[in-house]
Amino acid sequence: MKTNCIFCGEEIDFEDIYCAYCGQPQKDNIEGETSSRICPVCGAENAPDSNHCIVCCSIFI
Ligand SMILES: [Zn+2]
Ligand SMILES: [Zn+2]
Repeated sequence: MKTNCIFCGEEIDFEDIYCAYCGQPQKDNIEGETSSRICPVCGAENAPDSNHCIVCCSIFI
């Protein structure tokens, strides 16, 4: 599935978080997410694309 970069307008894959052309994060594709994931159990900051906490190993939904 293709979409267009919200910054430069180049065609990129819909699942791409960052534009391959200008490198800008496609915030429209990340529903309600910030730049990092805060673990609901221990409060540790994790990468936005992580699916479990690096500190306590809780699984993110
Ligand atoms: Zn772009
Ligand atoms: Zn945690």
